[in-house]
Amino acid sequence: MRFATKAIHAGVEPDPTTGAIMTPIYQTSTYVQEAPGVHKGYEYSRTHNPTRTALQNALAALENATHGICYASGLAATDALLKLFKPGDEIVATNDLYGGTYRIFTKVFEGFGLTFRFVDMSDPETVASALTDKTRMLWLETPTNPLLRLIDIEALTTLAKSRGILTVVDNTFASPYLQNPLDLGADMVMHSVTKYLGGHSDTVMGALMLNDDDLAARLRFIQNACGAVPGPQDCFLVLRGLKTLPVRMRQHCENARKVAAWLQAHPKVGKVYYPGLKSHPGHALAAKQMRDFGGMVSFELKGDDYAEAVRVMSSFHVFSLGESLGGVESLCTHPASMTHASIPKSEREKSGLKDTLIRLSVGIEDVEDLIEDLAQAIG
Ligand SMILES: *Cc1c(COP(=O)(O)O)cnc(C)c1O
Repeated sequence: MRFATKAIHAGVEPDPTTGAIMTPIYQTSTYVQEAPGVHKGYEYSRTHNPTRTALQNALAALENATHGICYASGLAATDALLKLFKPGDEIVATNDLYGGTYRIFTKVFEGFGLTFRFVDMSDPETVASALTDKTRMLWLETPTNPLLRLIDIEALTTLAKSRGILTVVDNTFASPYLQNPLDLGADMVMHSVTKYLGGHSDTVMGALMLNDDDLAARLRFIQNACGAVPGPQDCFLVLRGLKTLPVRMRQHCENARKVAAWLQAHPKVGKVYYPGLKSHPGHALAAKQMRDFGGMVSFELKGDDYAEAVRVMSSFHVFSLGESLGGVESLCTHPASMTHASIPKSEREKSGLKDTLIRLSVGIEDVEDLIEDLAQAIG
């Protein structure tokens, strides 16, 4: 099956009791057994729930994976994944990454003896020189958040495989519609389902997708043993959201392309970060490993005036100022004070993230309205 067909049909069977075409919300904690141990495959909803099973299978299909495992949030998925490791293990991660990921790495798991190194992964040589015999995992985000740098998934997975190191890609920004890291050699994909997969800003959820049966069994064990599972209603909402992922993504990309071009031509706008722009240093790599360039655009105003950036961000009528991304509505975020506030300013500056950077999640409204809104806000 091709992508849009999978988005609508994969994992979803008519309900066996009624034929309902949509997977019901199995709002139940337990399942009645005929005799002790005699049941229909469901015992307790932390372990299994039919609505979640349908979603997990659908998500796996979209990443060309055999296993999909859902968690209560993107960070709960990352938490489960990190529990695969032992004190002394090292993880090498991109230095331009989601602030909450940086926080769980350094503020939670360093306390359990894991070591994290943050490097600029746009150059595979830099990554190679950061590896030691204790390195167990590479953590990639591409395009990165919020600077939209490109990381070569194939080059890094080749490097990691030769040393027996796992490669995990946070594929939240691209979505499986635009990029499938497992096909490029990665071992695992992590998603904040909250974003494009859910797509409607109404659910918080995370997922891991992978092909390795042993790793999947360990992660399913952790899912049940630690218990950060999503509820059935949220699973239903995401199942519903997935069906329109391809049409939404096409519109996100088209609108973002126009917004980025408009920003680049504006006399008051400085740098524009969008992989679809020919001037973007990762443009060729993005064209190679992604099917289109996504819906995220970041930019700076000329002069780097903090007060002016705050004024612009407070002047929007169509864009809403808030954290998150990937919903149908356009959002504007100030990374330095919102999504990336948990990364110290010195670390932010090292990775090139200025306090005046504005990040847009370009929605699927009429793009003329988005551009008029930017025009009146920037002035
Ligand atoms: C939002 C986000 C996360 C965290 O996911 P939650 O669902 O908020 O826990 C991780 N990575 C990226 C790139 C994100 O945008």
